Amino acid sequence: MPDAPLFERLCIVGPGLVGSSILRVARQRGDVARHLVATARSAETLDRVRALGIADTVEADPARAVAGCDAVILCVPVGAYAGVMAAIAPHLAPGCILSDVGSTKGSVLRDLVPLLPPGIHLVPAHPMAGTEHSGPDAGFAELFQGRWCIITPPEGTDPAAVARLRALWERAGSMIETMDAATHDRVVATVSHLPHLIAFTICGTADDLAQETREAVLRFAASGFRDFTRIAASDVDMWRDIFLNNREAVLEMLARLTEDAQAFGRAIRRGEAGFIEDRIRRGRKIRRSLIEINQA
Ligand code: NAP
Repeated sequence: MPDAPLFERLCIVGPGLVGSSILRVARQRGDVARHLVATARSAETLDRVRALGIADTVEADPARAVAGCDAVILCVPVGAYAGVMAAIAPHLAPGCILSDVGSTKGSVLRDLVPLLPPGIHLVPAHPMAGTEHSGPDAGFAELFQGRWCIITPPEGTDPAAVARLRALWERAGSMIETMDAATHDRVVATVSHLPHLIAFTICGTADDLAQETREAVLRFAASGFRDFTRIAASDVDMWRDIFLNNREAVLEMLARLTEDAQAFGRAIRRGEAGFIEDRIRRGRKIRRSLIEINQA
């Protein structure tokens, strides 16, 4: 017998890649929520969600969508949170768990807490899973399998609410870690935001090259450049919002990287083979550790 559903009525606000993947998991398993609601900004997305049959109720008005739900998960770009929250806050049901999947977490507290009605449990989360594709058609139920989901409950959050959200992500196949928002933002600045900044920059540098060189770069892309282009193909709105909403941590990591890159450059100029070998060895070691813990 399957377990009883965790929630009676779960609303996904923004059923794009991540939001529609949650809906697909919930549909497939049947033990996440008894009734699935989806609300989106555009008529096109609402139509696609209807056609895909991944929600029981598809509602254009976010206020009506969240009414009566015992769980609401924001799956919109982090820069849209304040506007969405202003629209839904007065309509959240007492006792409801309000969560999200945003890639920055300090900004979630900044934008949601001031508008949080009493009796609503805010339990922010960040599934560390995604692709470079967007929209409801890009989602798939296996997206979260074997991937980390970081939960960042503010101090004093009801442990029962945290446990229910944790159970949702466990049922989606994720491994869970709990930390505070500031720690989360520093970690993801290193493992995700900085690599994306580098990928966007490298692609820009290649694009700025003279026609002849650019053509050669694209033709021989297999030797490293191609891996950056996959990361750089990511969604514009989402990544603009991430950089603007994790400003301090990204700038701190960028400053460190700049220092390290300059040291590398100096070693090349001075012909310091030992320094260069050490850097390459450290890279190989990190790659091996990732393979060992099944995160490669
Ligand atoms: P997505 O596929 O582009 O979907 C975004 C959804 O948000 C769409 O339903 C869109 O509605 C809606 N939306 C966009 N701007 C909005 C606005 N200003 N007001 C209201 N709704 C708006 O994005 P995603 O990749 O699923 O990302 C969603 C969230 O997950 C982001 O916060 C992101 O940081 C986080 N995240 C992403 C990844 C990843 O790799 N993609 C991984 C982990 C976490 P319409 O379609 O109607 O425009």
